[in-house]
Amino acid sequence: MLTDDASQRLTQVRDDIAHAARIADRKPEAVTLIAVSKTHDADAIRPLIAAGQRVFGENRVQEAEAKWPALREETPGIELHLVGQLQSNKAEEAVTLFDAIHSVDRESLVTALAKAMDKQGRRPACFLQVNIGDEPQKGGCPVAELPKLIEQARAADLPLAGLMCVPPLEVEPAPYFALLAKLARDHGPGGLSMGMSSDFPTAVTIGATHVRVGSALFGARA
Ligand SMILES: *Cc1c(COP(=O)(O)O)cnc(C)c1O
Repeated sequence: MLTDDASQRLTQVRDDIAHAARIADRKPEAVTLIAVSKTHDADAIRPLIAAGQRVFGENRVQEAEAKWPALREETPGIELHLVGQLQSNKAEEAVTLFDAIHSVDRESLVTALAKAMDKQGRRPACFLQVNIGDEPQKGGCPVAELPKLIEQARAADLPLAGLMCVPPLEVEPAPYFALLAKLARDHGPGGLSMGMSSDFPTAVTIGATHVRVGSALFGARA
C-alpha cells in the first residue's frame, strides 16, 4: 500500500516535470528531481528507492547522518543533496556526507567548505543560495551581494553548479524564479535549483535544472 502510494506519487511528479518541460521546449532529462526526505524515516524512504528514485535531499546534517549511511549501504548509487542552512562548523561533516550543497550563502562558509574539500579530496557540487525576495529572516546571500560571493567561491575553487532560491511564501513565485534565472545568465554559474511541491512545474518552465520536492512525494510533514 505504502509502496504503491510512493510509486504513484513519484510517477505523478515525474509526469508533471515532463509536461512542464515540454511546454518550455526543454528536455525532461534536463531536470533533476531531488526527493526531499527531511523528517521522514527510512521506512518512508525505502518505497521511493524501490520505485527507482536515487536523488534525495535533506535539510539537516545530523538527521542525514542518522538516516543515510544505512540506506546507502542497502542501495548503491544514491545521490544526497543538502538543501537546508549549513553552519560553518558543520562544513566538514557536510562535505563527507553530501554530493551537493545548495545553501552556500556567505564567505565564511565558502572558506570552511573549501578547506574541508581540500582536506578530504571530495568535492560536492555547490549551489549559491540567493535570498531572492530580500527577506530579513531568510537564509541566502542578498541579491546585490551575489557577484561578490560568486567571485569568492571561484577564488576558493569551489565546484560551482548553480544558484538556488526559496521564494517568499504565498505570493506568485514566477517573478522570483525569473530573477534567479536572470542572475544565472548574467553572472553564471548555470544551474538553477528552484521549485518545491507547490510550484515545481512553474520553476521547470522558467529553467529549473533541480527541483526540490518533499510533501508531493512523501505526504505532509508532521
Ligand atoms: C523542505 C524543503 C523543500 C521541500 O519542500 P516541499 O514543500 O515539501 O516540497 C525544498 N527546499 C528546501 C530548502 C526545503 O527546506
